[in-house]
This record gives sequence, structure tokens and C-alpha cells, in this order.
Amino acid sequence: MLRNPLRGVLNMKLGIFALQGAFLEHRLAFEKLGVRTVEIRRRAHFTDGLDGIVLPGGESTVQGKLLREEGLLYPVKEAIESGLPVFGTCAGLILLADRLSNDGNVYFGVLRATVKRNAYGRQLGSFRTDLTVRGVGEFPAVFIRAPYIEETGAEVLASVGGKAVAVRQDKILATAFHPELTDDLRVHSYFCDIVRGKV
Ligand code: GLN
Repeated sequence: MLRNPLRGVLNMKLGIFALQGAFLEHRLAFEKLGVRTVEIRRRAHFTDGLDGIVLPGGESTVQGKLLREEGLLYPVKEAIESGLPVFGTCAGLILLADRLSNDGNVYFGVLRATVKRNAYGRQLGSFRTDLTVRGVGEFPAVFIRAPYIEETGAEVLASVGGKAVAVRQDKILATAFHPELTDDLRVHSYFCDIVRGKV
């Protein structure tokens, strides 16, 4: 049988965590790629049949608290550990990390990385820079009160000033910056390739 090359993407359904933060921008980015998305706000929304999940930027302490209160922390952690693909940006990276260097919290704790919150300080609260992202190419990266990764056992896809800002560990993709706040869909597309097992 002939395989429609778009079929993999068109059949894909991603759950976008929508407790707080920049989730709408992720929905729009994936929908432009032809991917179906559903918002996850409650435990009941986290169902079977999701091909992957997305953890948006925002405020990790607020998101972590809401995840706990909704009873989502453990089911989602278990699902990621069982291989559910996940893409975390900024606060999403913080939620995935197994250690935070300047904060006692650990949330999902699935990504082998020590992450520093608000790592660029007040002077450089927000900035934009062109990065080379392995597997993607030159990318316009937007940082907003961003963390960076001090140490990691994951594959480093991009760095700024010697600090990792994009990593991959199996089916976990995490960036300190916000690809959803640019018009460039290539990081989202790269995540779709991870979900489909193409890369
Ligand atoms: N500073 C936020 C935090 O620590 C992350 C910022 C972001 O997601 N843009 O959670």
C-alpha cells in the first residue's frame, strides 16, 4: 500500500498543557503544521491516545503547584518514563529537569539536567539571538527570564555562552527559549519527527 507521507503528521494528536503560560502559541504552531492538539487542564484531559505532550513557558512554580493539585504530576511523569514524547519550553524545561540549582523543587524529574532558573539575571531578562540548533539549523531564539542548563547527561542541541539551552534525551526535547514565539516552525517540526520516530 502506498503511504501518504503527510499521514503521520495528520494523524498525530498532541496534548498541550494549558494550566498557565504561553500554551496558545504552541497550539497555533502545531496546527500550522497540520497537527491536532487538545488542551490539558485537568486530570481527566490526560487520556490515552495522545502521541505526545507539550509543556509551555510561563511560571514553573505556578504550573508545578497546579499540576500537583490536579493530580497530574505522577501520571504524566510515569507516562514520560514509559516513552511518551514531551516537548518543554522554558518553564517546561524546569518542570522536566531532575535538579534545579537555585530552587529546591523537582517536578517531573525525568530529564538528566541541572537547570538554573532565571539564569540570565535582571539585565538580560529577555533577549533574542540566532543559534545553531543541531537537527534544525540556524534558529532565531527568544529568551524570556530564561533558565539555562548547567550540567546534563542529555544530548546538547544548542548552547549560549557555553551553557546548554536546548537538549534531547530519547523522546524528551527541551529548550530554554521559546520557538512558539517566532514564525519559525522548525523546532516544532523537529518534535513531530521525534514523535514519529523519524529522528
Ligand atoms: N522564569 C520562569 C520560571 O522560572 C520561566 C520563564 C519562562 O517560561 N519564560 O519558571
